[in-house]
Amino acid sequence: MSPTRAAGLVIFRHSNQLIQFLLLQTSYGEHHWTPPKGHVDPGESDWDTALRETQEEAGFTQKDLEIDKNIKKTLSYEVNGKPKDVIYWLAKLINPETPVKLSDEHQDFKWLPLQEAQELSGYDDMKIMLSEFFDVASKDI
Ligand code: AMP
Repeated sequence: MSPTRAAGLVIFRHSNQLIQFLLLQTSYGEHHWTPPKGHVDPGESDWDTALRETQEEAGFTQKDLEIDKNIKKTLSYEVNGKPKDVIYWLAKLINPETPVKLSDEHQDFKWLPLQEAQELSGYDDMKIMLSEFFDVASKDI
Protein backbone atom coordinates (compact mmCIF):
# COMPACT_ATOMS: atom_id res chain seq x y z
CA MET A 1 0.00 0.00 0.00
CA SER A 2 1.58 3.30 -1.02
CA PRO A 3 1.55 5.89 1.75
CA THR A 4 -0.76 8.87 1.77
CA ARG A 5 1.44 11.91 1.22
CA ALA A 6 1.19 15.22 3.02
CA ALA A 7 3.48 18.22 3.41
CA GLY A 8 3.72 21.24 5.66
CA LEU A 9 5.94 23.72 7.49
CA VAL A 10 7.24 23.74 11.04
CA ILE A 11 7.18 27.48 11.64
CA PHE A 12 9.20 29.23 14.33
CA ARG A 13 9.56 32.84 15.37
CA HIS A 14 11.89 34.74 17.66
CA SER A 15 10.16 36.32 20.62
CA ASN A 16 12.35 38.12 23.20
CA GLN A 17 15.33 36.00 22.13
CA LEU A 18 13.25 32.85 22.61
CA ILE A 19 12.34 30.42 19.87
CA GLN A 20 8.64 29.59 19.66
CA PHE A 21 6.97 27.04 17.40
CA LEU A 22 3.50 27.40 15.89
CA LEU A 23 1.01 24.61 16.57
CA LEU A 24 -2.60 24.54 15.38
CA GLN A 25 -5.38 22.62 17.10
CA THR A 26 -7.59 20.66 14.73
CA SER A 27 -11.31 21.35 14.83
CA TYR A 28 -11.88 17.70 13.81
CA GLY A 29 -11.09 14.31 15.34
CA GLU A 30 -9.22 14.30 18.64
CA HIS A 31 -8.45 18.03 18.39
CA HIS A 32 -4.73 17.29 18.34
CA TRP A 33 -2.05 19.90 17.80
CA THR A 34 -0.02 19.96 14.60
CA PRO A 35 2.00 22.28 12.39
CA PRO A 36 0.19 23.47 9.25
CA LYS A 37 0.17 20.66 6.68
CA GLY A 38 -2.13 18.82 4.32
CA HIS A 39 -2.48 16.29 1.57
CA VAL A 40 -0.44 16.56 -1.60
CA ASP A 41 -2.87 16.97 -4.49
CA PRO A 42 -2.34 14.91 -7.67
CA GLY A 43 0.38 16.54 -9.77
CA GLU A 44 1.35 18.94 -6.98
CA SER A 45 4.89 18.99 -5.55
CA ASP A 46 5.49 18.49 -1.82
CA TRP A 47 6.95 22.01 -1.70
CA ASP A 48 3.91 23.62 -3.32
CA THR A 49 1.63 21.68 -0.98
CA ALA A 50 3.55 22.86 2.08
CA LEU A 51 3.25 26.50 0.99
CA ARG A 52 -0.39 26.20 -0.05
CA GLU A 53 -1.46 24.51 3.17
CA THR A 54 0.45 27.04 5.27
CA GLN A 55 -1.32 29.89 3.52
CA GLU A 56 -4.71 28.20 3.89
CA GLU A 57 -4.28 27.14 7.51
CA ALA A 58 -2.14 29.89 9.05
CA GLY A 59 -2.42 32.78 6.59
CA PHE A 60 1.33 33.09 5.94
CA THR A 61 2.62 33.42 2.38
CA GLN A 62 6.12 32.53 1.20
CA LYS A 63 7.21 36.16 1.52
CA ASP A 64 6.39 36.09 5.24
CA LEU A 65 8.83 33.20 5.68
CA GLU A 66 12.48 32.25 5.36
CA ILE A 67 12.83 28.60 4.35
CA ASP A 68 15.90 26.55 3.54
CA LYS A 69 14.77 23.91 1.06
CA ASN A 70 17.48 21.56 2.37
CA ILE A 71 16.17 21.49 5.94
CA LYS A 72 13.32 19.03 5.93
CA LYS A 73 12.22 15.87 7.64
CA THR A 74 9.64 13.17 6.92
CA LEU A 75 7.38 11.72 9.62
CA SER A 76 5.78 8.35 8.84
CA TYR A 77 2.82 7.00 10.80
CA GLU A 78 -0.40 5.10 10.28
CA VAL A 79 -3.86 6.63 10.12
CA ASN A 80 -6.70 4.09 10.26
CA GLY A 81 -4.26 1.33 9.31
CA LYS A 82 -2.97 3.23 6.26
CA PRO A 83 0.61 4.53 6.10
CA LYS A 84 1.05 8.29 5.85
CA ASP A 85 4.22 10.27 5.07
CA VAL A 86 4.36 13.92 6.04
CA ILE A 87 7.24 16.06 4.76
CA TYR A 88 8.00 19.11 6.86
CA TRP A 89 10.34 21.99 6.10
CA LEU A 90 11.57 24.34 8.80
CA ALA A 91 10.45 27.94 8.24
CA LYS A 92 11.13 31.18 10.11
CA LEU A 93 8.42 33.80 10.39
CA ILE A 94 10.38 36.92 9.43
CA ASN A 95 8.15 39.42 11.27
CA PRO A 96 7.22 37.68 14.53
CA GLU A 97 4.19 39.94 14.93
CA THR A 98 2.52 38.72 11.72
CA PRO A 99 -0.95 37.55 12.80
CA VAL A 100 -2.03 33.93 12.36
CA LYS A 101 -5.25 33.56 10.34
CA LEU A 102 -6.91 30.23 11.00
CA SER A 103 -9.18 28.34 8.61
CA ASP A 104 -12.23 26.28 9.60
CA GLU A 105 -9.96 23.24 9.94
CA HIS A 106 -8.45 24.56 13.18
CA GLN A 107 -10.00 26.00 16.30
CA ASP A 108 -6.97 27.42 18.12
CA PHE A 109 -3.27 28.11 17.78
CA LYS A 110 -0.32 28.58 20.11
CA TRP A 111 3.25 29.84 19.81
CA LEU A 112 5.24 27.65 22.20
CA PRO A 113 8.82 27.13 23.34
CA LEU A 114 10.38 23.77 22.49
CA GLN A 115 9.41 21.76 25.54
CA GLU A 116 5.79 22.92 25.61
CA ALA A 117 5.45 22.33 21.87
CA GLN A 118 6.79 18.83 22.35
CA GLU A 119 4.38 18.13 25.21
CA LEU A 120 1.38 19.44 23.32
CA SER A 121 2.22 17.62 20.08
CA GLY A 122 2.48 14.37 22.03
CA TYR A 123 4.05 12.18 19.34
CA ASP A 124 7.62 10.91 19.79
CA ASP A 125 8.64 11.45 16.18
CA MET A 126 7.29 15.03 16.30
CA LYS A 127 9.22 15.65 19.53
CA ILE A 128 12.46 14.49 17.92
CA MET A 129 11.85 16.59 14.81
CA LEU A 130 11.13 19.68 16.93
CA SER A 131 14.40 19.13 18.83
CA GLU A 132 16.37 18.83 15.62
CA PHE A 133 14.70 21.90 14.12
CA PHE A 134 15.28 23.80 17.38
CA ASP A 135 19.03 23.16 17.04
CA VAL A 136 18.98 24.57 13.51
CA ALA A 137 16.81 27.53 14.51
CA SER A 138 19.12 28.32 17.47
CA LYS A 139 22.03 28.92 15.11
CA ASP A 140 19.91 31.54 13.38
CA ILE A 141 19.79 34.01 16.31
P1 AMP B 1 -3.09 14.26 10.93
O1 AMP B 1 -2.05 13.49 10.15
O2 AMP B 1 -2.46 15.32 11.81
O3 AMP B 1 -4.21 14.79 10.08
O4 AMP B 1 -3.75 13.26 11.96
C1 AMP B 1 -4.42 12.09 11.55
C2 AMP B 1 -4.38 11.10 12.70
O5 AMP B 1 -3.02 10.70 12.93
C3 AMP B 1 -4.88 11.69 14.02
O6 AMP B 1 -5.54 10.66 14.72
C4 AMP B 1 -3.62 12.07 14.74
O7 AMP B 1 -3.79 12.04 16.13
C5 AMP B 1 -2.63 11.02 14.25
N1 AMP B 1 -1.25 11.56 14.20
C6 AMP B 1 -0.87 12.82 13.88
N2 AMP B 1 0.47 12.96 13.94
C7 AMP B 1 0.96 11.75 14.31
C8 AMP B 1 2.27 11.22 14.53
N3 AMP B 1 3.35 12.02 14.39
N4 AMP B 1 2.40 9.93 14.88
C9 AMP B 1 1.31 9.14 15.01
N5 AMP B 1 0.03 9.55 14.80
C10 AMP B 1 -0.15 10.84 14.46
